[in-house]
Amino acid sequence: MVVGNIVIVGGGLAGATAAKTLRAEGFGGPVVLVAAESHPPYLRPPLSKEYLLGKAGDDTLPVVPEDWYDANDVDLRLGVQATALDPAARAVVLEHGQRLEYGSLLLATGARPRTIPLPGSGLDGVSTFRTVEDSRRLHARLAEGGLNVVMVGSGWIGMELAAAASTFGNTVTLMGLEDVPLGAAIGPDLGGFFRELHEAHGVRFRLPASAAGIQGQSGRATAVVTDAGEVLPADLVVVAVGVVPEVGLAEAAGLGIRNGILTDASLRTSAPVIFAAGDVANALHPFTGEHHRSEHWSNALNGGKVAAKAMLGLDATLDTIPYFYTDQYDVSMEYSGFPTLVAGPPVIRGSLADKEFIAFWQQEGRVIAGMNVNWPRAAKPQKAIKALINARTAVSPDLLADSSVPLDQLLD
Ligand code: FAD
Repeated sequence: MVVGNIVIVGGGLAGATAAKTLRAEGFGGPVVLVAAESHPPYLRPPLSKEYLLGKAGDDTLPVVPEDWYDANDVDLRLGVQATALDPAARAVVLEHGQRLEYGSLLLATGARPRTIPLPGSGLDGVSTFRTVEDSRRLHARLAEGGLNVVMVGSGWIGMELAAAASTFGNTVTLMGLEDVPLGAAIGPDLGGFFRELHEAHGVRFRLPASAAGIQGQSGRATAVVTDAGEVLPADLVVVAVGVVPEVGLAEAAGLGIRNGILTDASLRTSAPVIFAAGDVANALHPFTGEHHRSEHWSNALNGGKVAAKAMLGLDATLDTIPYFYTDQYDVSMEYSGFPTLVAGPPVIRGSLADKEFIAFWQQEGRVIAGMNVNWPRAAKPQKAIKALINARTAVSPDLLADSSVPLDQLLD
């Protein structure tokens, strides 16, 4: 297949992984990677965990070493925004008007933090959280300790930031629209587990509650006012209320959009030779026959690989089971499966009180998602969970819950 040159818009994990895969697959043609941020592509998961805590340095962030791009003849355009697509002419327009023609194009534009129209959100000390600059700024303030910090948003990022903030000795209040933090993602029991974990570290919750406004003095935030009228003192306010896929370019160019850029399982969009991967792609998943948009690291990694191969005309589909992880205090959690299929409470193996358990969610007896918390790595819980999901066979809840039955024997 003649591919010509390849342009990748978006210098995150998906875009950089696609560039790496193109070269690994032997593609020798020109590759341009257009990246709006001024840093070479980097990993975001550490930003709210070990990097924010000061336990990991800048050297742990790059997706590939900085000299990889030159060494592999990838034209990395840092600090450059793509402003328009011209699918008919197969061209991307960059800021300042330069046009880049492409044989194939990958849109890996990711997502941006959702904002809410809060009075006072322009005050110093109020921010969203996505970039390495956000993490450095927050680290500098949190490390002082002794501050009042309010997290608006009770999802994964809000909870991770709350963990880091309280670890540094700040007074943390977390508010969100849910009754239980993470309730929409993992249900009330396990959300309650994370709430108790945080409470044991002094984090206070206001749930459900929404922020009505932010008060300030001399241009700096001093408090968040809740919809119930409570005034929560706040030197720092982080709004972590989810993300919005960056579909602007694709939408303006007329590509199919629904909660992201719609793609088939090989990450082809509705326009010829244009592909999409990572947080921005709402891809058809062969397992469910439905579209899924995942905002997780493994999806960007695997999607970058699949899109690169598909652009080269190779047979590739994004059929991996969605996976993500979080680290909060002394809890390490991994999750595989399809949260959108989950209904009802999980079966638990192990003990929430001991902070060592696996939760299995089932649909008609088949495991469709599983989450291991502090489970011994030697038992390979993720491998077992993915095997159970892929097997699509019913497993008795008693067996799932019985710790004396080895995980790798649940399918026997
Ligand atoms: P992005 O990382 O968003 O990269 C897209 C890039 O494209 C950005 O640099 C953007 O500036 C650029 N761009 C956008 N539009 C244009 C344009 N028009 N022109 C040029 N460039 C453009 N996932 C997990 O599984 N586990 C975790 O623990 C975890 N923790 C996270 C912690 C934080 C703080 C964040 C923010 C995310 C976390 N994630 C985690 C999610 C994971 O990092 C994302 O799913 C992943 O970064 C998505 O990669 P991406 O390449 O699709 O998009």
